[in-house]
Amino acid sequence: MNFNETILPWHAVQWAYLQETIKQDRIPQALIINGIVGLGKRQLAEQYATALLCENRGPNLLACGNCHSCLLLKANTHPDFISIEPETEEKALGIDIIRNLLPKLALKPQFEGVRVVLIHSAEQMSTASANAFLKCLEEPSERTVIVLVCANYRRLPATILSRCQHLAISKPTPSLGVAWLSSQGVQVDQTVLLHLAQGAPLLALSYAQEKLLATRNQCFGDWMKIAQRQIHPVVVAEQWQKLPLASLLQWLAGWVSDLIKSQYTHVEHYFDNQDLLKQLQMSSARLESKQLFTLYDKVLEAQKLLHTTLNKQLLLEVILLHWYDLNYRR
Ligand SMILES: [Zn+2]
Repeated sequence: MNFNETILPWHAVQWAYLQETIKQDRIPQALIINGIVGLGKRQLAEQYATALLCENRGPNLLACGNCHSCLLLKANTHPDFISIEPETEEKALGIDIIRNLLPKLALKPQFEGVRVVLIHSAEQMSTASANAFLKCLEEPSERTVIVLVCANYRRLPATILSRCQHLAISKPTPSLGVAWLSSQGVQVDQTVLLHLAQGAPLLALSYAQEKLLATRNQCFGDWMKIAQRQIHPVVVAEQWQKLPLASLLQWLAGWVSDLIKSQYTHVEHYFDNQDLLKQLQMSSARLESKQLFTLYDKVLEAQKLLHTTLNKQLLLEVILLHWYDLNYRR
């Protein structure tokens, strides 16, 4: 467990709310922290968990990091702290993980205070897992707080949602996002990175660290070359299948949606890819909007298949071949 001593600036309201739950002793039995990837939900959930378990909280109620309880947390041996998550981003949160949790919750917490259960990527629960998990909410165990951290709570069944309090994390304003990225040492391309990350600063930071902008620009070059018949879609699909699929599909969705927008507006701030705008506008002028909408649907369909066992290359071929065809329709 990491102890982070700063509340992220766009978590101020949420932290104030969480502090109140502790001060007023109104700690929820089950809480959903929801927000898109890259807003620091894990950090906030861990700060709440450590604060709940700490024996000597600081002035803003953050955990002290030094008490017996904090030391156990640091060593990952606190008996009243459980954290679970799917094995990978692609895998479901399997029933075995939930089955393992249930008997632990049947016992009383070992210490005087509360027990905290964090469930990361909770929306990845399989149907069977969600049904088994529902028991934890219907028959809550003593002095236990369950925190579900989700990127998309709508994927959880209504039976779970209705039994939890909800705390939404929104993305910060662009100026706050840029300022935060600068404070983390990202001095160039902050706005483009933030756009790529759909406004989520931690994701933008990881893009900067992985130099993902260069990869995205390379891919955009390939995409344009397909339109100009300089490279075959199947060749590109083969190269792209080695890249992170979630990012690729997000870039594709952004490019296609900007192509569509180009047909209706020239106001720059409506576009996701302001740095590529000239090329997108030129390309869009030659295309039929109906075909672009079909392509957009194909990208969205592909995004839905992200967490399944799919053939990445085939999936990319379908999209890229459609893009190839629609550039030569007339
Ligand atoms: Zn402490």
